[in-house]
Amino acid sequence: MSEANQLAIPAFEPPTLPVADSNALFPVRRVFCVGRNYAAHAREMGADPNAEPPFFFMKPATAVQHHGRVAYPNRTEDYHHEVELVVALSSGGRDIPVVAALDRVYGYGVGLDLTRRDIQTALKKAGKSWEMGKCADQSAPVSAITPVATCGHPERGTIQLSVNDKVVQRGDLADMILDVPHIIAELSTWFELMPGDLIFTGTPEGVGPLSRGDHLLAEVSGVARLELELV
Ligand code: MN
Repeated sequence: MSEANQLAIPAFEPPTLPVADSNALFPVRRVFCVGRNYAAHAREMGADPNAEPPFFFMKPATAVQHHGRVAYPNRTEDYHHEVELVVALSSGGRDIPVVAALDRVYGYGVGLDLTRRDIQTALKKAGKSWEMGKCADQSAPVSAITPVATCGHPERGTIQLSVNDKVVQRGDLADMILDVPHIIAELSTWFELMPGDLIFTGTPEGVGPLSRGDHLLAEVSGVARLELELV
């Protein structure tokens, strides 16, 4: 390598998530999210799940974090919780067949797709893009990743969020409109998926506002658990 190949500024590490019961870290490359993947949530957002299929958006990898404290961001008065099953990919590809999709999964976690709902709603109304509503710093907290070897591929089971010990969201993974294999297959027609990609698979009904000081406990039964404090 010649002098000319040196980095102009120091390189930075990818964000990482712990792997459950291990010293290993899972490096995060990109964060894909599924919108309106549970019919009851689509309806609470004023959409018709029969007329509009689920869709995709992204968050920056730097929004991912795991240290138990999440800062309430500025530029919102209505920061919403969305509890979601998170898929972590160990490999990728383009145009992945549904039947081969689960081979790409390293493991699963539970995460929160935290959303500046007031901003998102205003941007939607104005026909503008969603990023400022969806991409706040620390807006994608995720649990430790449980490897497939430990938890298998969860197809059903409770997904739940409690705020200050009160259950506010409760759903079943079986109610996802696009299941995990179909999400991976569909996403891989838009992007070449890669190792380290995370996919937030959508939230069940019951989204709502959070306040500073709230204590959150997100769980996917038999898969993962995430506890955090909004500060
Ligand atoms: Mn979401």
